[in-house]
Amino acid sequence: MLARERVAVVDHAPYLSDLTPGRTGNLSVRDGDRFAATPTGVPYDGFDASDVPVVSLDGDVVAGEMEPTSEVPMHTGIYQRLDAGAIVHTHSPWASTLAVLGEELPPVHYMITAVGRKVPVAGYAPYGTDDLAELVVAEMEDANSDACILANHGLVVVGEDLPTAIENTVHVEELCKVYLRARQHGEPNELTDDQLAAVEKQFESYGQSEE
Ligand code: ZN
Repeated sequence: MLARERVAVVDHAPYLSDLTPGRTGNLSVRDGDRFAATPTGVPYDGFDASDVPVVSLDGDVVAGEMEPTSEVPMHTGIYQRLDAGAIVHTHSPWASTLAVLGEELPPVHYMITAVGRKVPVAGYAPYGTDDLAELVVAEMEDANSDACILANHGLVVVGEDLPTAIENTVHVEELCKVYLRARQHGEPNELTDDQLAAVEKQFESYGQSEE
């Protein structure tokens, strides 16, 4: 069941070690009405594909030798309501700095358009709860953003697949760092809606052209 997705979880989980301390991060990848997720409480390289839990969008574990991440409610909540193929959750230090300040990431650099026009901040709720999932999904819908800062907690980023979600997590973490450093030296300039719209248009044709 979800053989390819479970291998993808095993292959991508080690990237979390550069982003988030200890075993605090988790990720998942979806196929239809189920998703494969990192197991709870094991090192990012400490499990294989048969261990990887498969979870239904109702939150039931339907396969896998290990128990899933404690953040299953956030993953199910996001998949139920947003068009996401993969989710990455971290306690990465710069996003978590904004999280403890209770602040969103404004559009101070054009790369923000990888996820939206800002990264909103969701109010605090205990980890692993439906309340947290509800706050996060509402903010992401409201801001039309693929990323959300979780107050006093961390960051969640979605993407069409795991490589995209991980790459965008790295982008957001870097932008949080640049923004917070810039604030130590002055008032950061924000891009206007027109400037952001122009970047979104440029990104539509970015990359290798197909022959
Ligand atoms: Zn967390």
